[in-house]
Amino acid sequence: TYKYRVLVASHIHEKAIELLRSNGFDVAVREEPSEDELASMIKGFHALIVRSKPLVTKRVIESSDVLKVIARAGVGLDNIDVKAAKARGIEVINAPASSSVSVAELAVGLMITVARKIAFSDRHMRLGEWPKKQAMGIELNGKTLGIIGAGRIGSTVAKICRLGLGMNILYYDLSKNEQLERELGARYVDLETLLKESDVVSIHVPLTPETQHLINEKRLRLMKKTAILINTSRGQVVDTNALIKALKEGWIAGAGLDVFEEEPLPKDHALLKLDNVVLTPHIGASTVEAQEKAGIEVAEKIIDYFRK
Ligand code: NAD
Repeated sequence: TYKYRVLVASHIHEKAIELLRSNGFDVAVREEPSEDELASMIKGFHALIVRSKPLVTKRVIESSDVLKVIARAGVGLDNIDVKAAKARGIEVINAPASSSVSVAELAVGLMITVARKIAFSDRHMRLGEWPKKQAMGIELNGKTLGIIGAGRIGSTVAKICRLGLGMNILYYDLSKNEQLERELGARYVDLETLLKESDVVSIHVPLTPETQHLINEKRLRLMKKTAILINTSRGQVVDTNALIKALKEGWIAGAGLDVFEEEPLPKDHALLKLDNVVLTPHIGASTVEAQEKAGIEVAEKIIDYFRK
């Protein structure tokens, strides 16, 4: 007797499922089925919700009959054959804003961790040492933060760092962000100026042909020797080999990285041997709140879609 049926094929927040049910949708939950299972069960469902798993392949899509929407409760669409979906007139939606605050907070966390050598101290204390002398740090207050890509995440980082830490904000983007200039006194500069003048550089551009290895050897050499580089965008935006050289040879002071050109980071990777880099395993969106927001955001979009 239900008009629309939704298949939830990954673990999403309970509130999102409740929201769909209270809006009259029939919701079935089958977390992370295999391709075979998904292909054989997809018939009869009008919407499919996934996260970074399961794979929604061409075969799965072509096995559907009434499917209208594929929703990713999160941001990246790497596991969905978007082309095959479009070819069948199936809309692919995601929740691009859901993790902005979480990623921004992680970027700021990495900045402080590098500036105050927190991870370094922890590592050495566990070895029975008292690394007080080696853990001399710097304050972020009054320093200059350069934001590369002042979109949702970049502007949130700028806000936290301006209002919370008293940093001065420079930014580089394809276009000016008037609001950021008005509210935070942020200054729009070209990339070269940003790299030369910033004490902390934080990267928040999407991965595109233009941003692939945007931060290369030549640009790393423009940075201050005391500067810190933070990357929570995509690993490919930074030339890893050049960064390793920069960290080893002291062209910059340190780095905080949540994303890598190869994920998971290989066991013997050179980055793992450097003391002036802090690493996290792509956890930008891994918070209770981001997951909840992602589930609710796609549930609302599905409700809107079928209301039209
Ligand atoms: P957004 O689209 O809101 O902002 C991106 C900004 O980059 C935009 O202002 C855009 O104009 C700018 N930009 C694009 N190409 C550019 C270029 N060539 N030069 C300069 N600026 C350019 O995106 P967002 O939501 O802020 O996310 C930023 C990135 O963060 C995403 O693309 C994603 O890869 C990454 N991300 C990472 C995690 C994580 O877990 N670490 C989670 C979510 C998103």
